[in-house]
Amino acid sequence: MSGPVSTSDVPAVPVSDVAEHCPVEVLAARHAEVGGIDVRRLLPRRDRRMLGAWCFVDHMGPASSHHGRLDVGPHPHIGLQTVTWLLDGELLHRDGLGSEQLIRPGQLNLMTAGRGVAHAEESSALTGGADRAGTSRTSRPLHGVQLWVAQPSTTRDGDPAFEHHDQLPQVALDAGVATVLVGELLSARSPARRDTDHIGVELSLTTGRSIVPLVSGFEHGLVVLDGAVSIGGTRLEPGHLGYLGIGRDEVPLDALQRSRVLLLGGVPFPEPILMWWNYVARTRDEITAAHRDWTLRRPRFAPVASPLERIDVSGPPWTNDLG
Ligand code: MN
Repeated sequence: MSGPVSTSDVPAVPVSDVAEHCPVEVLAARHAEVGGIDVRRLLPRRDRRMLGAWCFVDHMGPASSHHGRLDVGPHPHIGLQTVTWLLDGELLHRDGLGSEQLIRPGQLNLMTAGRGVAHAEESSALTGGADRAGTSRTSRPLHGVQLWVAQPSTTRDGDPAFEHHDQLPQVALDAGVATVLVGELLSARSPARRDTDHIGVELSLTTGRSIVPLVSGFEHGLVVLDGAVSIGGTRLEPGHLGYLGIGRDEVPLDALQRSRVLLLGGVPFPEPILMWWNYVARTRDEITAAHRDWTLRRPRFAPVASPLERIDVSGPPWTNDLG
């Protein structure tokens, strides 16, 4: 198979009675701690592992953080893209490709791991001083999302890559504006790399109803980052994943106050994936090999020029020879 997975690969399912009578399934986040900050983990879950190719969703901050900062030392990834989107604060990305990129609200960092890459995410390095543009670096509490997209078999063994987008296309909604991080919505198409047919859109809503168009061959979900919305009387707020299923052309969103909502969707991923630690693969052997390469500092994972300590963990539970 060549090219991205498309809607034609997975037939659209007609809207079922369930979808009509149960407009949204509310799934509560688990709480986790990452790099010194509390996060709400929306994906993966035992009862819902993916949403299209989206396989990991962490909503971090703002008020739940210890210090409002995130520091994650160099660590490896394979087989996925990391997507970083901030509502507040700043974060410095460094990776083994030599990238060093500050990200601010409204910008997108997208790293493609392919066969392997390591990166670090730092915010304490940003407190004090000024950046190259002379702008004062503040230590505003971090608020944002970190997402992973599983790569399809066509690209997951490919080269690692990193891209940053300062500006993303926007399109007006009935009561608000949509910013397209990945994929397309109405007339807006993101320039970000996309290896499968999926979307990631931030909906910035004012009070009132917006009818948001959807792709019927996609499954969709909503993550409220700020505020609260209602779908057919079901309330969604931060800490909820609103699962919309597949087969919808649109969703009516009633913003109960000013709200920021992440819309994620995509063609159901065509094969099961295996996730362990920071790796997305298909088999245990692939993960075991990647982790051995990381632990033994083999060239698959080029070193990251970060002041933070690299992260090492014991091998996967199915091995006992990696310490
Ligand atoms: Mn990472």
